[in-house]
Amino acid sequence: MLRVDRIELGIVLDHIQAGKGLFIFQKLGLASRGDPTALLMNVPSSKMGRKDMIKVSGALDLDLAMLGLLDPGITVNYIEGGEVIRKLSPGLPQRVVGLIRCKNPRCITTTEGYSPPVFTLVDREKKEYRCYFCGEHVRV
Ligand SMILES: [Zn+2]
Repeated sequence: MLRVDRIELGIVLDHIQAGKGLFIFQKLGLASRGDPTALLMNVPSSKMGRKDMIKVSGALDLDLAMLGLLDPGITVNYIEGGEVIRKLSPGLPQRVVGLIRCKNPRCITTTEGYSPPVFTLVDREKKEYRCYFCGEHVRV
């Protein structure tokens, strides 16, 4: 397997659905960071067959809600002193502000523009959210 230097301090995003790594890499704006960052694609995985991974050295403030929305299966490992000190699986966020657009053309979030869309998860299996303002259902 392809090896990347171990990280002393940083974050490893694991179990990214194969093929989604680049998209997440771009969404997080990682290309413009000064610290060493690695995107690994199609890494063999016993659980998933193939997976993508992202390793980021240095401190990084992650938007976990966005990550969970982009890929609900993702695992976030926080590394300190070369060891994993915390591991979390954000999953689909219960509440999402500003990341999903409402499809209803008459919704105030699409007509007014000053209030960010707010969505609440209604069905985790179907990845379905409901608009707080108009009740429109949206799948992500
Ligand atoms: Zn709406």
